[in-house]
Amino acid sequence: MLAYTYIEKGRFLMLEKPVPELKDPCDALVRVTLGSICTSDLHIKHGSVPRAVPGITVGHEMVGIVEQVGSGVTTVKPGDRVTVNVETFCGECFFCQKGYVNNCEDPDGGWALGCRIDGGQAEYVRVPHADQGLNRIPDGVTDEQALFVGDILATGFWAARISEITPDDTVLIIGAGPTGICTLLCAMLKHPRRIIVCEKSEQRARFVRAHYPDVEVTDPDNCLSFVKSHSEHGGADVVIEVAGADDTFRLAWEAARPNATVTVVALYDRPQVLPLPDMYGKNLTFKTGGVDGCDCAEILRLIAEGKIDTTPLITHRFPLDRIEEAYHIFENRLDGVIKIAITERSR
Ligand SMILES: [Zn+2]
Ligand SMILES: [Zn+2]
Repeated sequence: MLAYTYIEKGRFLMLEKPVPELKDPCDALVRVTLGSICTSDLHIKHGSVPRAVPGITVGHEMVGIVEQVGSGVTTVKPGDRVTVNVETFCGECFFCQKGYVNNCEDPDGGWALGCRIDGGQAEYVRVPHADQGLNRIPDGVTDEQALFVGDILATGFWAARISEITPDDTVLIIGAGPTGICTLLCAMLKHPRRIIVCEKSEQRARFVRAHYPDVEVTDPDNCLSFVKSHSEHGGADVVIEVAGADDTFRLAWEAARPNATVTVVALYDRPQVLPLPDMYGKNLTFKTGGVDGCDCAEILRLIAEGKIDTTPLITHRFPLDRIEEAYHIFENRLDGVIKIAITERSR
């Protein structure tokens, strides 16, 4: 099969590899029918994910059809159309029991697919802990509608959930990249009084204005004054930082009102400063980390009910054998790209 592979820093290559085999009774083999490229794939390519193993097949955003299951798999069967979760987790350890699946204690726990074990920019993928990592796609929900459920949409959903948004809140979302927009869609489900999106790129700001006319849009230079004049208590009640730029962490807590919640979803390239003397008396609550991707069934239900639609994010489509071109466009943000759907190889 074709498998897009991490060779070394700066280099991915399409290789022919054998179709993966089940290694454990809890494994499933999934034929990938649609995948995508994530910014995290670029982080691997650029060498900024030290735990990524050279030689592994990359890709952790995908949907597909179950081809084969081990004897311990009970929730899916061959022929089922499924979403694949970016995180593998056992469902049994202390952290899984509490829903903190990102910190699952299993050796494959957390983000392993397409990082430490072979991922899904390939024709087939082996999914460990398939009962936890696969969710059946309801009839009537297309592959494209379900494509982002296991990664960026799970992240947006988790971010909105832990931010404890109430109907009285002004919510500021910093960053309108793919994950920022998924976060926006999930924050909208909480019906806060107001949502403000701060985005530097004019093209992305236009996308938000065009698709979500009820959302206020500002840019980093004007964000603080905009939020002050568009909120009741001198700042946002909830700030969700999804941008991860050099100055956006500072912007996040500065734009927050006293006693606000600041949720940091972003992954930074560099350490950030928490200047406690400057924020003394502001009494902020910070929440940080990586997605606990355990809400996929609920997200799929919301998609089936028409309450979440991420299909506008798909701006480009390429077959697997032309993924190189897709990476070029995604990496260089050419041609108004937001997300690229990778379809099955052309025959
Ligand atoms: Zn990702
Ligand atoms: Zn676990």
